Amino acid sequence: MRSVLSADYVPNAISFIDEGLLVGGVKIPQSLAESLIEASRDHICEPADCCVRLVAIADLPSEFGHFQICGFVSPCDGKEHTAIIKGNVVDKENVLLRVHSECLTGDVMGSKRCDCRDQLITSLRMIEEEGTGILIYLRQEGRNIGLTEKIRAYSLQDQGVDTIDANMLLGHQADERDYGVAAHMLRTLRIQSVRLLTNNPDKIRQLTKRGVVITERVPLVTPVTEYNRFYLETKRSRAGHLLGEEAALTSVEDICGDGC
Ligand SMILES: [Zn+2]
Ligand SMILES: [Zn+2]
Repeated sequence: MRSVLSADYVPNAISFIDEGLLVGGVKIPQSLAESLIEASRDHICEPADCCVRLVAIADLPSEFGHFQICGFVSPCDGKEHTAIIKGNVVDKENVLLRVHSECLTGDVMGSKRCDCRDQLITSLRMIEEEGTGILIYLRQEGRNIGLTEKIRAYSLQDQGVDTIDANMLLGHQADERDYGVAAHMLRTLRIQSVRLLTNNPDKIRQLTKRGVVITERVPLVTPVTEYNRFYLETKRSRAGHLLGEEAALTSVEDICGDGC
């Protein structure tokens, strides 16, 4: 057996690069990745606040599956967004998609105040199982009010205010997230249409308005706990999330009617 330290050692992944293969399946081939990055290099568009450029693509083996990770940067505000990809999604239709907004406390620290980490991990596992899919990770912490403001909102929630009123008491909207960047990332990767993993009808409406073709909603079922029960109930009753009796709805037309 060759040693990692010997001069002739070649990591296994290298031999897969040109064939577009990854452990456990296909990936975006190197030549295609380079052409997407090249096409993005000097790209700029209007409205500029939604613009992003694809800068790099690399393999990302993880405990949830073998993926590729795409690094995007907005030339407008310098924010760095990522897309975790399974399979070669370029030019594909009906790609399984999760659009996830950053939640440091949930995603990284495992906070039980929200269901973000459960949604993130469940999505990655579903995408891995399907063999093709994409998770877009947007840098809009705390429904885009920022980390420190979210902690202030948590403090208000500790005093009995719900998640929506807490944001509004701090002078924010109930939800300030913007999905223009996600739509742009899908365009950059030339994804034709998606099946969206979400419980949030507003996300379907916003992405549709931004030109994303959504052929189906795929429910995202995560556990209810004693800590997130009130939070989830607020999302259902005040933000229209498809939980409880409506959890099984998958038709985009039934969910949005003429609103999409
Ligand atoms: Zn652009
Ligand atoms: Zn969260």
